Amino acid sequence: MAQEWLEGHHARKRFGQNFLHDRHWIERIVRSIDPQPGEILVEIGPGQAALTREVIARAGHETAVEIDRDLAQFLRQQFPEEQLDLIEADALELDWTQVHADQRIRIIGNLPYNISSPLLFKLIEAADRVIDQHFMLQREVVDRMVAGPGTKTYGRLSVMLQYRYRMYKLFDVPPGAFTPAPKVVSSIVRMVPKAPNELMPVPVDLMGNVVAHAFQQRRKTLRNALSNLCEADLISQTGIDPGARAETLSVEDFVRLTNAIASQANTPQ
Ligand code: SAM
Repeated sequence: MAQEWLEGHHARKRFGQNFLHDRHWIERIVRSIDPQPGEILVEIGPGQAALTREVIARAGHETAVEIDRDLAQFLRQQFPEEQLDLIEADALELDWTQVHADQRIRIIGNLPYNISSPLLFKLIEAADRVIDQHFMLQREVVDRMVAGPGTKTYGRLSVMLQYRYRMYKLFDVPPGAFTPAPKVVSSIVRMVPKAPNELMPVPVDLMGNVVAHAFQQRRKTLRNALSNLCEADLISQTGIDPGARAETLSVEDFVRLTNAIASQANTPQ
């Protein structure tokens, strides 16, 4: 029955559906997640249960968020409620603070590539009680997430995520591991939120704004890119060259710059 159903289900492009079918890769991914009984694992986009089945086999239980109604119905038929707690919702719209509120959770997922960046930003709202996150993403996105200053791929995603998480690229997964095969190579990334005492104090929304402006046109100097937010003098006062480009600044530089802009805004003129 399950097999017939799967064969009848056409992958929906709008939901970024590329299903893992290769046992070698499924096992390797789940081994690197290493789910344990008693842990609260939350999967985004369980799809046809390639990872779900293995996680449940190891941890005994999983919570999953699936947007596709047909897949949700299939999943309910496959697993009893004691094993799978299914939230039929859009992970982008979900109030993540309410998913196992006040408990420590582990988040996993072979993420729909079309929404990966907004979803990564959205999940920051739950970071203070997340143990870790393991995601499969386009390799190009993972490279941007872990990139350091001075590289072409270093940008807004790198700075904002590295401020909040330690991130490790684990390994690549070839297109042939999926049905249908995507056009690009994928990678697995591990994200571990930093503890509160490791987080540099900064108004994060303002930092998001500063970083977005700084990288909007990568070739612009900071003086020009940030002209709506501050004077060149203020940039110099933080020890940063206003003639430099955003891609040369470390995460710490962005924190210092944001705090300077925040205190300027709070100073009576
Ligand atoms: N985990 C399965 C696997 O590895 O084979 C499926 C992965 S597939 C790349 C992405 C899954 O996310 C699909 O099941 C899709 O329906 C689901 N999905 C897409 N957009 C979503 C959203 N906004 N919220 C929750 N699930 C979503």
